[in-house]
Amino acid sequence: MSCVFCRISAGDIPADVVHQTERVIAFRDLNPQAPTHVLVIPRAHFADAAALAAADPAYAGEVLAVAADVATKEGLSGGYRLVANTGADAGQTVDHLHWHLLGGRSLGWPPG
Ligand code: 5GP
Ligand code: ZN
Repeated sequence: MSCVFCRISAGDIPADVVHQTERVIAFRDLNPQAPTHVLVIPRAHFADAAALAAADPAYAGEVLAVAADVATKEGLSGGYRLVANTGADAGQTVDHLHWHLLGGRSLGWPPG
């Protein structure tokens, strides 16, 4: 299995897991960009949100529900950002859908 996030999901690569369900796993980003920086992913491999939404829209909802649960657990009552970089222009480097959950500081807008 070559996909790094599939390997994390399978437990083959260690990760700092903050929340998991049967179909979703959330773990801290190796290179955090904010005090809270968690990646929320479907355990199954989908390249991006469009692929997941086309295949199983309810599953997309499950992933977003976990993101909201993690935001609550992390105490992000002041707000947070959910970002799914998609494709080269957005700088997607891992070809397995992941939502970045960022919070714990003022994030600014627009992104650079
Ligand atoms: P992208 O650039 O595709 O939107 O985000 C990929 C993210 O995955 C990056 O923020 C990067 O730091 C993170 N990342 C890459 N490899 C690993 C890993 O093996 N473990 C963890 N926890 N994060 C990773
Ligand atoms: Zn994968």
